[in-house]
Amino acid sequence: MKTDLLIGNEWRAAGKRYCLTNPATEEPLAEVAEAGEAEIDAAVQAARACLDSKEWRDLPARKRGALLFRLADLLEQRSKELADVETKNNGKPLFESKIDVAMAIETVRYYAGWADKLTGDTLPVSGNFFTYTLREPVGVVGAIVPWNFPLNLATWKVAPALAAGCTVVLKPAHETPLTALLLGELAVEAGLPAGALNVVPGPGATAGAALVRHPLVDKIAFTGSTEVGQWIMREAAGTVKRVTLELGGKSPNIIFADADLAAAVRGAQAGIFYGKGEVCAAGSRLLVERAVHDQVVEQLAERAKKLTPGDPFDKNTRLGAIVSKRQQDTVLSYIAAGKEEGARLVAGGNPAKVNGKGFYVEATVFDGAKPGMKIVDEEIFGPVLSVLTFENEDEGVRLANRSMYGLAAGIWTKDIQRAHRVARAIKAGTVWVNTYNFYDPAAPFGGYKFSGFGRDLGKEALDNYTETKTVWIGL
Ligand code: NAD
Repeated sequence: MKTDLLIGNEWRAAGKRYCLTNPATEEPLAEVAEAGEAEIDAAVQAARACLDSKEWRDLPARKRGALLFRLADLLEQRSKELADVETKNNGKPLFESKIDVAMAIETVRYYAGWADKLTGDTLPVSGNFFTYTLREPVGVVGAIVPWNFPLNLATWKVAPALAAGCTVVLKPAHETPLTALLLGELAVEAGLPAGALNVVPGPGATAGAALVRHPLVDKIAFTGSTEVGQWIMREAAGTVKRVTLELGGKSPNIIFADADLAAAVRGAQAGIFYGKGEVCAAGSRLLVERAVHDQVVEQLAERAKKLTPGDPFDKNTRLGAIVSKRQQDTVLSYIAAGKEEGARLVAGGNPAKVNGKGFYVEATVFDGAKPGMKIVDEEIFGPVLSVLTFENEDEGVRLANRSMYGLAAGIWTKDIQRAHRVARAIKAGTVWVNTYNFYDPAAPFGGYKFSGFGRDLGKEALDNYTETKTVWIGL
């Protein structure tokens, strides 16, 4: 496996290297080169040179698409290895990594298909003119992604950017660079020209910040915490960079009394415990209509108690290891806060080990949670669910929208009119009705409010990577 930096299609050593730990076993996993300011500069220069080269600039759009189709095929050929590496690096169960890899492949194929379909318009202006728009690549893209879906979220940015004719410097999360490096290796093998995709692992505060500040980067595509997103937005003002931000969430999953309760409880469980709750769209606030509250909480607590943490490589495991000791500590500090603030613990609440090792946390459910509590207002990013009660639809909607975030929401009801009414009333970028946590490359995804702006996926994501140029021809 490559562990150096990918810059201009060459593997380069860096002055520094750092050690990764497998969070499920606490054993050393790999030693990886760490990009500093000089390496980020080299990667940006390589991306810039590629952007300005005839080889990339004049490549017919369909051929750009063909390179991406080839990359998708190579990802598919190496999918088993990619899933294994993702699980070792992130701690998520292998079945989840396989889903991630499959989505990454689909995402690359989806945008490969878009490469030769990006068109402008002819415009009905007044006067004797022929006026039209061109869509041009925005330039060098700095893609910065987090550790929860390392490969998948990288492709959400890299694929549309390359399809649009941009070049990319990808900075994976410090904790999880391995599948991003493999993506880079396969991009070289697919025949992407030198500098089209550069992969530079490193800490956010140094490598990430250098990318954000670099004057030759035209756009930052960021997924991560709201706090870092705010910093990037401020910092990007200095060079008037285009910025899109996919940030945190505290998504409401709302169960109405008329719902199919068995399905709703399963959806509530998957909504928070899939991905160990390290999911930006996790349904971490469960809002339950009072009439069915006791039933729902009882069933959910029972299910959560059975969902014991396990070896991520065991095919029966549905709850893996938290990504790092640091994140485990954060999650446990929220559990302590929930207890102190008076919420009632009905399942889990403890750290765990598997075979005596690993940074696990039990599937945890708090009942009697109230707005104002930290476990209700703040993103925990772990397997911790806060259950709140509401009396009627109005109150349910009010509670759902009572959050600084607006990334996603779930609605469980058999009443079709209510489903549409509530879907409209919720301030969030994605609303799932009678389902939760589904994604597709064709479906745009992103936030309202402090969950950010801009959309990944769908045809909307291509807007992030293109400029519109208007051309007037005097007749
Ligand atoms: P984070 O913000 O700490 O880090 C995200 C990325 O930014 C990493 O690559 C990190 O190295 C980098 N970074 C950190 N400081 C930086 C700086 N000053 N300049 C430039 N880059 C910097 O977030 P995290 O803890 O890795 O990920 C968890 C967060 O990501 C959660 O808040 C979660 O909700 C969010 N997230 C959002 C989405 C979405 O689509 N909205 C998806 C997944 C995760």
